[in-house]
Amino acid sequence: MSAVIKDNAQGKTLVSLRGLNKHYGDFTAVDNLDLEIQEGEFLTFLGSSGSGKSTTLSMLAGFETPSSGEILVDGQSLVHVPPHKRDIGMVFQRYSLFPHLNVRDNIGFPLAIRKLGAAETSKRVDAMLKLVQLEPFAHRKPSQMSGGQQQRVAIARALVYEPRILLMDEPLGALDKKLREDLQDELRQLHRRLGITIVYVTHDQEEAMRLSQRIAIFSHGKIVGLGSGYDLYQNPPNAFVASFLGNSNFLHVQANSNGAASFEGQPVAIRLTPGLSAQQDALIMVRPEKALALSAEQASREPLPGGWNEVVAKVGEVLFLGESQTCHVMTAGGTELTVKALSAAGMPMKPGDTVRVRWAVADACIYTEWAQSDLSKSAGAH
Ligand code: ADP
Ligand code: MG
Repeated sequence: MSAVIKDNAQGKTLVSLRGLNKHYGDFTAVDNLDLEIQEGEFLTFLGSSGSGKSTTLSMLAGFETPSSGEILVDGQSLVHVPPHKRDIGMVFQRYSLFPHLNVRDNIGFPLAIRKLGAAETSKRVDAMLKLVQLEPFAHRKPSQMSGGQQQRVAIARALVYEPRILLMDEPLGALDKKLREDLQDELRQLHRRLGITIVYVTHDQEEAMRLSQRIAIFSHGKIVGLGSGYDLYQNPPNAFVASFLGNSNFLHVQANSNGAASFEGQPVAIRLTPGLSAQQDALIMVRPEKALALSAEQASREPLPGGWNEVVAKVGEVLFLGESQTCHVMTAGGTELTVKALSAAGMPMKPGDTVRVRWAVADACIYTEWAQSDLSKSAGAH
């Protein structure tokens, strides 16, 4: 039995987006979107370029006006509240620091425009410099700092007036991988320490997984999946999310009776699925690491356990990836499958071998509705 993973965000609703739309001419960038954001959660909008993430975030920040719909914070409508009165901080991909101001003055800027006194400003800026570990750099200009340091200044500047909500739009997108991972760790710690609500935008699924308590998956201006990274990966709500997040094998089956189906004319067992009728076409999805490839000899030594399926396939390509290896195989009916195994487990397969591919019924998700475009990785972009 797999453990029940609870949704991390169980607090009260802080932000509600209701029936939110944004049209540009006759193009719909955000399509009737509903979302509740919990107080104190780290929520990430994940999706391909053009899927409507930034537009949604901009409406929340107040830089874009919804074509229709509501944005509520604590039950109060924000739609007519100007950005600087929304109690929201924002960090963009480009550092957008003031080049002529040093780090101290950049961080203090939001307080200066709010006309906070000098002593209080100084105290808060000091606290922020400490928070993002930039005390030794207080008097440098942005041009004298690395990209990662500049982005920490931008984060400090967004937090200095203690907003309830911090919005970040691909803030680490311009940084290289190592630095990005360091800052991801810092952001997670910052979130934990401050308990602030963060809404984060990225197109990088690994980043979304590392950072967030919940992920909202965007496609064509809609949220098509919402939950913890664990739940979305293990039990994708639809074929689009399954193919977008990680790698997946799709097998077209035809249902016979509930719990039984045929794949390329061979019987396979499937999860009991409410509403699935006999003769109905369905799609099953098995993650590559949940599939096993056995040689004929291994298969004869290890009889098929109850609750498992097996199909015969031919090995096309074996790829060694260091920690893991993948084996691409094709069934007699021409379905391509990928099997992934830890290198430590050994991978005795070679191209041309005939193998038995096995998976547990419980590990295969089943979908009764999908579009062909859902099954390819590039889906989701406009
Ligand atoms: P994402 O942040 O997910 O990459 P965006 O929210 O920036 O996507 O954009 C969603 C869609 O809306 C894109 O197709 C984009 O071209 C379009 N769009 C965004 N802003 C405008 C605008 N000001 N005028 C016309 N189309 C826009
Ligand atoms: Mg964007």
